[in-house]
Amino acid sequence: MASSDIIQLLPDSIANQIAAGEVVQRPASVVKELLENAIDAKAGNIQVILREAGRTLIQIIDDGSGMSETDARMSFERHATSKIRQSEDLFRIRTMGFRGEALASIAAIAQVEMRTRQADNELGTLIKIEGSEIKTQESVACLPGTNLCVKNLFYNVPARRNFLKSNSVEMRHILDEFQRIALAHPEVGFSLHHNDTEVFNLIPGKLVRRIIDIYGRNYREQLAFCQEDTSYISVRGYIGKPEFAKKTRGEQFFFVNDRYIKHNYLHHAVTSAFDGTVPEGSHPFYVLFIEIDPAHIDINIHPTKTEIKFDDERSVYAIIMAAVKKAVGVYNLSQSIDFED
Ligand code: ADP
Ligand code: MG
Repeated sequence: MASSDIIQLLPDSIANQIAAGEVVQRPASVVKELLENAIDAKAGNIQVILREAGRTLIQIIDDGSGMSETDARMSFERHATSKIRQSEDLFRIRTMGFRGEALASIAAIAQVEMRTRQADNELGTLIKIEGSEIKTQESVACLPGTNLCVKNLFYNVPARRNFLKSNSVEMRHILDEFQRIALAHPEVGFSLHHNDTEVFNLIPGKLVRRIIDIYGRNYREQLAFCQEDTSYISVRGYIGKPEFAKKTRGEQFFFVNDRYIKHNYLHHAVTSAFDGTVPEGSHPFYVLFIEIDPAHIDINIHPTKTEIKFDDERSVYAIIMAAVKKAVGVYNLSQSIDFED
């Protein structure tokens, strides 16, 4: 039988659309990716504007570095990134992004308009791109930083669009991503508007202030500082006092080098440290920041980067448990001192 060749390289638009399936599950994924880009661009202030829970509009405006005209175009190419150059860089990642896939993915499945300007340039660049196809590129007057509008998410992927949940569920996911990033960066100002209503306006400040601004004034009295330093990692943050534990989970956060992560094993370290002080079935509040040399972690195991591996997980467990135990203990002590005052 005569052989015939049937393999072809996929066109970019299809390859990007497939990749987008991994990066962009829902509007919240877009919010996360764009917020992370703004953080990586060293923004001091970030605005989020949403319509219909992000279905019709997700706009993120930052006052960060902005991009040159060439970079503005390049940023929508797949595997195009300014954050890593060689494979060794994978072991010293300090930025939120590094895969160079987010903008390419988003532009494959939405109508995107980006205005971006570097502070030293008089004019910025406007790019309109949809379905991976650049429709417009021109010089425009705009503010320094980057203003990205993502309209009609999944306009060309009806199956995905139909799988989206109600606006309130999609908003819940967006707020989860927004709050995680806002907690990780109290030094950055954030605002969030949904359908012209202001949902958050967070001014830059200290971590306690950020926690209170997100969760409410009543948290102020309920937090205990937590800190432990070793040569391997340093842990710091706040735990909620044991009697403040809630029936619902959700206000429990780990950040590794300022990146929000999910880690059941480490979560167990925290809950074990609370053992005997919180009632069965209650969930203590915690916001813990772990600083570690990036050479000791692998964040490359999942496209959304919420899972990471430590080279010595047992040590991380032990140090976190010690830090939280100490904080719970100090709190008990200081309560009795307060009584004597
Ligand atoms: P990654 O963040 O993994 O590098 P992205 O697709 O998210 O990939 O972005 C591609 C590149 O575009 C980034 O490496 C960065 O150089 C540039 N970029 C994206 N968003 C911004 C922004 N808000 N401000 C400045 N540069 C940006
Ligand atoms: Mg990115």
